[in-house]
Amino acid sequence: MKPVIALVGRPNVGKSTLFNRITKSRDAIVADFAGLTRDRHYGDARLGGREFIVVDTGGFEPEKPSGVVAEMAKQTKQAVAEADVVVFVTDLRAGLSAQDHDIARFLRTQQKKVILAVNKAEGMAESPLLAEFHELGIGEPHPLSASHGQGVRSLLETALEDF
Ligand code: GDP
Ligand code: MG
Repeated sequence: MKPVIALVGRPNVGKSTLFNRITKSRDAIVADFAGLTRDRHYGDARLGGREFIVVDTGGFEPEKPSGVVAEMAKQTKQAVAEADVVVFVTDLRAGLSAQDHDIARFLRTQQKKVILAVNKAEGMAESPLLAEFHELGIGEPHPLSASHGQGVRSLLETALEDF
């Protein structure tokens, strides 16, 4: 069985950009605004000789805006349940939000390996702003840039090291 890595996080942190970077496809829809990807999205990926599955989340039915938060929570829970490893994606430039804390609180109750990805870190990998992300109680923050491809391999190596 190939390990399954789920990408979770609030809208606009760069999950779909990271998905595309990892799968090298343009298959997931990347939006310049929050929440365009409508469904969870599965992609085949490999790191060195190792094959794995990556799952993008964050979609919702745009015609049901009142259900966005509930739908996101549902998708996150389903994706986490199916995953071997969860990559929790946050945004260094935007900083932490209440939604990040909510997701972290949920993830801490799960018996899953969770890696904390701090995206949009191009040119900022040494930033003192990174320290704030320890507050989430998810462990060491991994700075990366999904759009520039920096830190992605190292993140995946950590995610896959037990498989
Ligand atoms: P999602 O809602 O979490 O799937 O986020 P998207 O992948 O759709 O990206 C949201 C926005 O963040 C888009 O404008 C992306 O171009 C931008 N973005 C994604 N990754 C990076 C990154 O590493 N650095 C910067 N500066 N912007 C990024
Ligand atoms: Mg998306």
